[in-house]
Amino acid sequence: MPPIPGPISINHDRLLKNFLDMLSADSFHGNEKRVEQIIRPTLEPLGINFHCDTIGNLLGYWPGRNRSDGVIMLNAHMDTVRPTPGMRPIVDDIGVRSDGSSVLGADDKAGLAAIIEAIRSVDDAGLDHAPIELVFTVGEDVGHVGSKAFDPNSIQARTSFVFDAGGPVGHIVVRAPGQVRICATLHGRAAHAGIEPELGTSAISLLARAIDRMPLGRIDDDTTANIGRIEGGMASNIVAPEARIEAEARSLSEPQLETQVTAMRLAVSKAADELGGSFTFNEQRFYTAYELNANTPGVQLADRAIEASGLTPHHVSTGGGSDAHEFNQKGITSICLSVGYVDVHTVDESMPHEALRDITQVAAQLINQA
Ligand SMILES: [Zn+2]
Repeated sequence: MPPIPGPISINHDRLLKNFLDMLSADSFHGNEKRVEQIIRPTLEPLGINFHCDTIGNLLGYWPGRNRSDGVIMLNAHMDTVRPTPGMRPIVDDIGVRSDGSSVLGADDKAGLAAIIEAIRSVDDAGLDHAPIELVFTVGEDVGHVGSKAFDPNSIQARTSFVFDAGGPVGHIVVRAPGQVRICATLHGRAAHAGIEPELGTSAISLLARAIDRMPLGRIDDDTTANIGRIEGGMASNIVAPEARIEAEARSLSEPQLETQVTAMRLAVSKAADELGGSFTFNEQRFYTAYELNANTPGVQLADRAIEASGLTPHHVSTGGGSDAHEFNQKGITSICLSVGYVDVHTVDESMPHEALRDITQVAAQLINQA
């Protein structure tokens, strides 16, 4: 094992400025071009050629310096979970936060900023590095739109680093769940609620019975399930003919996920049987669970990069989904790294200065050591 090198000099002012520029660009899915227009002029002078694929992902190639082997791909997503029109990022001694009008968008612009400044820093220092492929995706937060459509044969790398996990910098996601999304509809029979309710079958009662029988919340260490939305009925004087649930199940274990979805289906079918209704149960695979071995070269590279940044690597499991799910599914070993952002998907979202500098150092070490 080669010795762990020292830190790479990072231009903190330039890092912060680029981060703030990207935060100020409202880039909910559909508007990612606004971020692309900041990235391209920043990196093109370094000899990085960019093009967009058919779905709008921004792909870049940075030739190696004194290296032609060991190509890796770096990824972050250009969209934010909600629109951020007019949001002005506020900078204080601790970090950057939103003005309260919307999310900040550090998820995932902190990931983008870290990758961009890492490239500039490695270039400034004249360090040798492997070829780097950049894949900046669209529509991650609305359902992995860009990564699902991504063609793995459009790049050479078979190892990628996804800068898009919560938790402190140093965490490496080695286990992530599969997710199934469910839409179930209960059908009863409409009737006048005051004149002849006995002729009706309430779909809302069917729904209540189904939910009552359904295992939900934390099922076990690996498995969770949730009903996130219900809808049904027409008016207080009509026995409800139809009601609907939108639900999900996740598990780090695919067999347990299967068991959980079966239990949810059974709860719906039993309720319909018992109360004399009918049902439809649609399940849709959103993504598949994955697990990475600690000996995987990409995981070992992440370990080394984090250690070289003066941090301690921790291998963790997550309950969340990311573009790493899709890349892993497509045969590109994908390691999702914690970026250090806090309270994402809320108006309290923030990015500590220290975390932004740390994740940038980790990205620079990845590039230098790949
Ligand atoms: Zn994200």
